[in-house]
Amino acid sequence: MYPELRLFIGGTWRKTGRDIPVVNPATEEELGRLPCASVKDLDDALQAAVEGFRLWRRTSPRERADTILRAAALMRQRQEEIAHSITLEHGKPLKQARLEVIRGAEFFEWDAGEAMRTYGRIIPAAQGHKFAVHHQPVGVVAAFSPWNFPMSQPARKIAGALASGCSVILKAAEETPAGALHIAKAFEDAGLPAGVLNLVFGEPSEISGHLIPQDPVRLVAFTGSTTVGRHLTTLAAQHDTRVLMELGGHAPVIVCEDTDVQSAAVSGAVRKMRNAGQVCTSPTRFFAHESVFDAYAAGFVARAKATVVGNGLDATVEMGPTANDRRVPALSELVEDAVAQGATLATGGSRVGERGYFFEPTVLLNVPEAARIMREEPFGPVAVINPVASLDEAIALANSVPYGLAGYAFTNRADYIDRLIDEVEVGNLSINTLEASMPETPFGGVKSSGYGREGGIEGLENYMTVKNVWHSAE
Ligand code: NAD
Repeated sequence: MYPELRLFIGGTWRKTGRDIPVVNPATEEELGRLPCASVKDLDDALQAAVEGFRLWRRTSPRERADTILRAAALMRQRQEEIAHSITLEHGKPLKQARLEVIRGAEFFEWDAGEAMRTYGRIIPAAQGHKFAVHHQPVGVVAAFSPWNFPMSQPARKIAGALASGCSVILKAAEETPAGALHIAKAFEDAGLPAGVLNLVFGEPSEISGHLIPQDPVRLVAFTGSTTVGRHLTTLAAQHDTRVLMELGGHAPVIVCEDTDVQSAAVSGAVRKMRNAGQVCTSPTRFFAHESVFDAYAAGFVARAKATVVGNGLDATVEMGPTANDRRVPALSELVEDAVAQGATLATGGSRVGERGYFFEPTVLLNVPEAARIMREEPFGPVAVINPVASLDEAIALANSVPYGLAGYAFTNRADYIDRLIDEVEVGNLSINTLEASMPETPFGGVKSSGYGREGGIEGLENYMTVKNVWHSAE
């Protein structure tokens, strides 16, 4: 069920002289060998993307949309096969992998529709003159997607680029290459012209260091940590290249005194453990009003403890392993630091078993502000629950980190909701739900969580440039 791993350059699949293992994080067994691109492979991809752009930018938006929709339909048809390889390489439960395939297809379907609506405008002008604003594809895109959603992360970037008329070279995550590979296969089968989509893997810094300075690359689109995002933004700035950055988050959840505490606690725990907490919008810092804190914490901890952890191929499993060997020590350190600073470890806190990168669903209570986890994104199944005396305090704490991606609140009070909308510093605020990202809504951050938006009608703006045309008849 796991595909043969190759690069996709100029419409052909290739192996290379150097490869690295891809490992199942649940068993630590090798799934396959991933070819690493050489400088020559990257130059070939660049040349192919230049030629692909020349052709694709002149392809009508409707034809582009038709191709994207054909590819998305193939992804839906291949849902089972794609989901299976995602679970093998990433570890998430098969049920969540199946949903990810559908979400990935939806990103393509939404952007395919938007491809036909990149309207310009006419600006009134003096007689004999016409001003017309055109939106045109920016050019070749160098895109970098992470390992937490092996299919839907690459989908977002490929969808935006292709719908806008750009060509793209995607470096997907080396730990989880199959999701992107299935996308490339679907586009090949859907008849996408050669060179419009190119897929490479290898040493991330070598690939970004080689591609970003190249003249034809007009946009760098990255999802990953703020540290790497800043590095790539700096590199892009040296070449006056635009960036779309979807970086880290450290999402606050404000639980007000008027909410249904038990149901909010259960949904909080379930959502926290989704994808083993490896989601940039994962709810992490829970601020519960002091009058409901005890009940909220008790409900949350009980549900977290009940989470079934194991191999994602087992149908009863709710949470798989973390995706790579870096996460377990990183999470252990954050938990140890919080406890040393005075936090209460209500459940979890340790690695599970000897094999695979499993970490227990973990809840920390009454965590002091000085603890690292109050500022550093854990990117794992660890929640912090602290009491607050007022909405003022909750909002101040929500805004106290450099991140501003997703934020959540549970309340039905109109005056509270009004203040939350105005005052919480995030790109995506969800009230009475822990969903944050849909194809039809713009997704992205403020502050150190990045620039630009993916999805919504805003999503294609990053991939397009504005040209004003002044036609004079005089
Ligand atoms: P990392 O920052 O080293 O890597 C994140 C992603 O960036 C990976 O896919 C990696 O291949 C890529 N990358 C790294 N260096 C690069 C470079 N020089 N050029 C191009 N791409 C590069 O971190 P990690 O250990 O893989 O993950 C740790 C942290 O990354 C997490 O704690 C989390 O904050 C963040 N992260 C965020 C997201 C997200 O959805 N925003 C996804 C994955 C990881």
